[in-house]
Amino acid sequence: MNKVRIDLDQEAIPKYWYNILPDLPKPLPPPIDPETREPVKPEKLEVIFPKELVRQEMSQDRWIPIPEEVREAYMQWRPTPLFRAKRLERVLKTPAKIYYKYEGVSPPGSHKPNTAVAQAYYNMKEGVERLATETGAGQWGSALAFGCNMFGMKSTIYMVKVSYYQKPHRKTLMQLWGAEVLPSPSDRTNFGRKLLKEDPDNPGSLGIAIGEAIEDAVTHDDTKYSLGSVLNHVLLHQTVIGLEALEQLKQVEEYPDVIFGCVGGGSSFSGLFWPFYYEKIQGKAEKNVRFVAVEPTACPTLTKGVYTFDHGDTAKLTPLLKMFTLGHDFIPPPVHAGGLRYHGDAPTLSLLAKEGEVDAIAYDQVSVFEAAKLFVETEGILPAPEPSHAIKAVIDEALRCKEREEEKTILFLLCGHGHFDMKAFEDFIEGKLVSYEHPREKIEESIERLKERYPWVEKIGY
Ligand SMILES: *Cc1c(COP(=O)(O)O)cnc(C)c1O
Repeated sequence: MNKVRIDLDQEAIPKYWYNILPDLPKPLPPPIDPETREPVKPEKLEVIFPKELVRQEMSQDRWIPIPEEVREAYMQWRPTPLFRAKRLERVLKTPAKIYYKYEGVSPPGSHKPNTAVAQAYYNMKEGVERLATETGAGQWGSALAFGCNMFGMKSTIYMVKVSYYQKPHRKTLMQLWGAEVLPSPSDRTNFGRKLLKEDPDNPGSLGIAIGEAIEDAVTHDDTKYSLGSVLNHVLLHQTVIGLEALEQLKQVEEYPDVIFGCVGGGSSFSGLFWPFYYEKIQGKAEKNVRFVAVEPTACPTLTKGVYTFDHGDTAKLTPLLKMFTLGHDFIPPPVHAGGLRYHGDAPTLSLLAKEGEVDAIAYDQVSVFEAAKLFVETEGILPAPEPSHAIKAVIDEALRCKEREEEKTILFLLCGHGHFDMKAFEDFIEGKLVSYEHPREKIEESIERLKERYPWVEKIGY
């Protein structure tokens, strides 16, 4: 009952992933091809993704079996531990109980290999030799390099140029796992060359890097593309997190009142809360659990964005996805939570937020790093800047519980450690971090440009 660390045996690694598609409050709007204005045909997606992942992307099967080879790869670091943050509770003098699921124990140090190994496996099975992808802070790139390495595949990683130079250690880690890493925009693609010609100092963005990686996959027969967040199949693979957490909480006879997670594209948070959502809609949940997404004020997709069809990338190569967006030409300020700077959000998470099933809040990075400091002082684990957003929200919730004398059970996802983010923590200690709030006008301008480009976008019947 009074455990600090709750572990599971390896046999408890889930045998199925949970797919939320059949359980959404409304059917998910399909991706739209801007040329035909019709839903994208699976054959078109099969140019860049293997067939099995396209099948999973659209599947209405609630439970999708995890291949034995993928479960075996998971055994390298799963099941991941669930901790009770007793020392943090004590310092906050809160009657709330705080639990966190810790994904930083994976070799790349985050939740991302949960999908990277699965994606590498299915591509390998279908004879693909190389995967191309983008990476921002380097977490996804390192996870995919690790996944490809596990299944004997090559990988090419387009890394946002500012991060390539600011975070060289992740680049080195990817190279050690056998990846070719290029600063994006690069001279490897037509899109990259065009941007470099316009501005040789273009700092890059996640959207630009996605554009380059897709172009690479489309123009090479032995190569496919891989995405680390946003898509249904990616979020699905992350549900091992929540399925394990359910079992672990059962062991200590607990059930969460509220679940927090940071959101970049929404994969880690969805991986944690989807299984609890399933229990809730089935009427099986012990409590009326709330789901709260936490994002930076510098990239306030759910809290200030617009719910509409938009491209997933700056190069406008991807189909239009119905999601909360800041506009695909959004260029984020160089705040430290690199993984949370994406202009959109997963269509499933966006739909759930639109329908009021998920709440969202935004925090400024200065308050987020203060929360991270309190966490590392009390719990000892250095959190990545991204989940530190969730930690800030949890601390605020725990303090509210103290005021109201509520004994809530809080669960959050510590989706990665911050060992590669030392520059950010150094800047914090030296008082160099600045507050930033993305202005509403900029979002409106960007959405105006989108509407000018696709005047029919609001008339699509989804
Ligand atoms: C990639 C990443 C994120 C953001 O991606 P989601 O799809 O929203 O999970 C957050 N935290 C860490 C540690 C990451 O690596």
